[in-house]
Amino acid sequence: MSTAPRVGQAVSALRGVRTADGEPVDLHIDDNGLVTELRPASPAPAAGGELLLPDWLVLPSAVEPHAHLDKALSWAATRAPYGDLLSAIDAWRRYVQTMSEDDVRRRARRALGMYLAAGFTAVRSHVDLLHDTEDPLRGVRAMLALREELRDVLDLQVCLLASYLVPDMLIEEALDLGVDVLGGCAHLAEDAAQETTRLLDIAQRRDLPVDLHTDEQLDPSMLSIRELAREVSARGMRQRVTASHCVSLGSLGTQALSEVLDEVRAAGLAVVTLPITNLYLQGWQSPSPMPRGLTAVRELLAAGITVAAGGDNLRDPFNPVGRADPFETTSLLVTAAHLDARQALHAVTDAGREVLGLPAGGVRPGEVADLVAVRADDLLDAVAGPSGSRVVLRRGRVVASTSVDQRTAVDPGPMPAWRSA
Ligand SMILES: [Zn+2]
Repeated sequence: MSTAPRVGQAVSALRGVRTADGEPVDLHIDDNGLVTELRPASPAPAAGGELLLPDWLVLPSAVEPHAHLDKALSWAATRAPYGDLLSAIDAWRRYVQTMSEDDVRRRARRALGMYLAAGFTAVRSHVDLLHDTEDPLRGVRAMLALREELRDVLDLQVCLLASYLVPDMLIEEALDLGVDVLGGCAHLAEDAAQETTRLLDIAQRRDLPVDLHTDEQLDPSMLSIRELAREVSARGMRQRVTASHCVSLGSLGTQALSEVLDEVRAAGLAVVTLPITNLYLQGWQSPSPMPRGLTAVRELLAAGITVAAGGDNLRDPFNPVGRADPFETTSLLVTAAHLDARQALHAVTDAGREVLGLPAGGVRPGEVADLVAVRADDLLDAVAGPSGSRVVLRRGRVVASTSVDQRTAVDPGPMPAWRSA
């Protein structure tokens, strides 16, 4: 590039980039941070405010629809064992007894820096209500403070993860602090239907979107998503309602699955799939044959249901690894969910924006210039995991720039043939 991108810089054009179709273009951005037009790439030198990124691939920036920033990067501190969901919950419950608000804020901020550098400009994070500790709202406060601190850098939505053990009054107290979304885990309650009703009552009263951890286990007889869909339909809810995980759908037979999906579609629910964490947490009790633990991603898409994808946990008791990288998720969607490159990209971009209720963003004229430029031969090369060199724009401003200087004893040779998907 002619001039190195500067964090905070307003960009008027990305010059010489290629779209996912392989066309070399100059992408122009106006003062409001909207894409105005794509012109055939011009050989003229870059003017002030323009970034020359010859042959870089420009894509919509990514959306993480389901993170747990209050837990992120706590693997070492929690001394958690490798294991399933219940052992992770145990380790986490022990750790939160002494966890401070500042600890949450520091780890979450560090994680957000990783997300941003990798190409995310929007994150929805669930946050625990620490009901069995002295100060139950400290995680919520930490996340809300970060949301305000980073308002000019990324869209951070805070979703209250209200356990079925938390009384209504405490949930209301947390919501009063300014939480964006109401979440919970109805399937863990003794009466999942009753818990679903309780949470939807509160959300309706508050006019809040809903995002529930739903059926995060393999047993196909657990289908609280059904009650969720029926309740949402019966109430005619206007709020966006999202079901995250939905692992048990992946264990259902074709006929039963199609009946549930009819109800999910009729209710207008969106589904969030979280490959890396489900692959890690599910299946410890059934080593052979080992299930994948993912929801029925292709069938959901075929039924016309919005499916966004994310990472869920990041180097904490629920997932000891993870790179906070949208292209890690896209790569897993191809491998473990059998999506193609365009479907995988859609799940971490446009579908995520839909779940979060964000305006359309990406490379098309009129869209918000929330963009990530990567060094990749073509779209599948990006979906597989591009090089670390990336430039990330939010509303036309540089919010992250990473440059990798790699030297090897092997000449990489010319770029391979372009394949558009
Ligand atoms: Zn989660």
